[in-house]
Amino acid sequence: MASAKPAPVCLFEAMVNAQDDAMFTVDGNDAVCSWNHAAQRLFGYAASEALGMPLAELLAEQPTTPDGGGSGDQALSAQRVLRDRHGMLLSVLVTRTPIGGPAPGTLASLITVHSLQSTPLQGADAPRQRAMNVYESLVEGSDDAIVTKTLAGIVTSWNPGAQRLFGFSAAEMIGESITKIIPLDRLHEEEMILQRIAAGERVEHFETVRTHKSGSLVHVSVTISPLRDAGGRVVGASKIARDIGERILAAQTIWRQANQDTLTNLPNRSAFRRQLEMEVARAERESGHFALLYADLDHFKMVNDSLGHDAGDALLVAVAKRLRAALRGSDVLARLGGDEFTVLLPTLDDPLALHTVSSKLHDALAEPFAHASHPIHVSASIGMAMYPRDGTSADELLRHADLAMYEAKNEGRNRTIVYEASMDQRARGRLLLAGDLRRAAQQGELYLAYQPVVRVSDGEALKFEALMRWRHPAFGTVHPARFIPLAEETGLILELGDWVFRRAAQQALRWCELHGAPIQVSFNVSPLQLTADVDHTAHWGAHVRDIGLDPSRLVVEVTETVMLDDSPRIAQRLRELRRQGFQVAVDDFGTGVSNLAALSRIEVDYLKIDQSLVRKLPDDPRKLAICEAIVAMAHRLGIQVIAEGIETDEELERIRDIRCDFAQGYLYAQPQDEARATQWLLEQRERRALSRGDA
Ligand code: C2E
Ligand code: MG
Ligand code: MG
Repeated sequence: MASAKPAPVCLFEAMVNAQDDAMFTVDGNDAVCSWNHAAQRLFGYAASEALGMPLAELLAEQPTTPDGGGSGDQALSAQRVLRDRHGMLLSVLVTRTPIGGPAPGTLASLITVHSLQSTPLQGADAPRQRAMNVYESLVEGSDDAIVTKTLAGIVTSWNPGAQRLFGFSAAEMIGESITKIIPLDRLHEEEMILQRIAAGERVEHFETVRTHKSGSLVHVSVTISPLRDAGGRVVGASKIARDIGERILAAQTIWRQANQDTLTNLPNRSAFRRQLEMEVARAERESGHFALLYADLDHFKMVNDSLGHDAGDALLVAVAKRLRAALRGSDVLARLGGDEFTVLLPTLDDPLALHTVSSKLHDALAEPFAHASHPIHVSASIGMAMYPRDGTSADELLRHADLAMYEAKNEGRNRTIVYEASMDQRARGRLLLAGDLRRAAQQGELYLAYQPVVRVSDGEALKFEALMRWRHPAFGTVHPARFIPLAEETGLILELGDWVFRRAAQQALRWCELHGAPIQVSFNVSPLQLTADVDHTAHWGAHVRDIGLDPSRLVVEVTETVMLDDSPRIAQRLRELRRQGFQVAVDDFGTGVSNLAALSRIEVDYLKIDQSLVRKLPDDPRKLAICEAIVAMAHRLGIQVIAEGIETDEELERIRDIRCDFAQGYLYAQPQDEARATQWLLEQRERRALSRGDA
């Protein structure tokens, strides 16, 4: 049977190569003729380079005892200093055993070299030493912490970078356990690392935290490599740690910016959407339910405008806190922006429980909020939508809760309204209307209705208020309460407002010419007309001069909330209009947070007491007292007062009692188109002439 013979030589070679000690043979001339792996590791020469090399190459100093010749056949051992390929000095134990040379009669020696140290000796001016010096200064000068430790975790070196990063000096760390800088909950991590290092693996760029001497945590990115002794055995680890605190901070900031509302620290719109989508998915899987609330603060803009943005911001923060405290931990409260908040109530669908939650939210806001000058009263309008009844997607639920909130506003604010399908139709109606409104102006569907304003003392009507009307081809007469907000939302009010001004001016001119009496026409101006970047009122003065109208025949009506806005732009535009000769009236006075101080900033000619104050005036002594105070104050400021919404003789009597100057209301006439208003004017002149004649 011709089978391969066992190869004793190969086996022998493998054994030799497996040795930890360097082993090689030299011939009679002391030239290397074999070279094991350990020799390669220790001296740095590959076998191919070492073969034929004179033994003297390896000697750092010339031997003082003749142990190189190999006289006799005794093994000789001696401690020697040898030199590796880089010139590095090695302290070793050398054993030289004479053996038979490859050819009969020749001499050879087996040389075994046992390393006596784990780190190489320092050698003077060898290239490697120069390299070492460079490394050392690199380590010393590095911004990174560079540390070595034994496999037991005992620190063996500690550079200045490590001192900067961890606070401990080299003296405090060398010889100590590395666990000094490892937080308790990370100790397992260190164990795992040491195991991997012992197995010769490198651990690269893992991010972790360490403890600073001060006790604070330090975020670091760490790379750990095994440290080997001259024989290639892993004896420890070197670790490079880099401070990533700033990067972590930046990452956290980016996360927060993307997910958190910076003012209140609540989840922001996009974070809330994600939560909502997750909740929809969960409810879908589990056939579950949940509810979504959409809350909008009432009259928040007024607070912001009158008290300033800082106060507005502080109020939002306080509101967020109260809402949060009124909810359970599992409920998600978010701020979508502005004064809009949303709440996700997981697993809730019982109407009674939902009612309780919404009452809690209203109650949470009931107590006034503290502010430097006076307490601020806040309420919220809340819309509610339920999954799956009112929608099965995040978008649909949000839209429907928003629509319900809009209804809550319309119904008088400070309440919660649950979504109903009819709201969707109404919203679509509004959208259609907004589209129609754009065309309405051009197609002549808009007109002004005029309502007389009567002097209380003698019943004479020399003033009219112009009120916009829309004769819609399909819906009939649409009232301003429905379309003015749309016009304001879409910005169309700027054009419409200008149109109203021209119409009112024309009408005033016509009536003045017709009667030879100074008839005055007032018209309403939206806040946007006074705050828009482009000043649409700038040319009004020139226009009335062009058509030959005395500007004092026109009165600009601005709402009380406009007066509260302390933006210099509004004050400046109103002042300019007055300077041009127009008069100014404050409309709906007494409905908002009456800011009498505003009257000292902006001069006005008339205050119009809102209908809500005039209503039931005869039965309500408190309302009467308020109206009386308003009239008295206005008169002291040289301002005349108009009471709106006078419907009965009793109401007229009361406002006469408190010396109100003018009255406007259904008692005299409804707002009516130009022809009827002119007719009314003629008739009342005739009546007056008659009654004067009778007297
Ligand atoms: P406003 O300026 O306070 O106008 C008075 C409102 O009260 C008018 O409603 C008028 O029809 C109504 N009114 C008058 N007398 C009585 C009464 O005795 N009883 C009752 N219950 N109501 C009475 P209207 O015309 O529906 O206008 C509503 C609001 O729409 C106006 O309130 C004004 O703020 C706004 N508006 C009207 N026309 C314009 C306009 O051309 N431009 C702007 N920006 N707003 C307008
Ligand atoms: Mg008005
Ligand atoms: Mg009014």
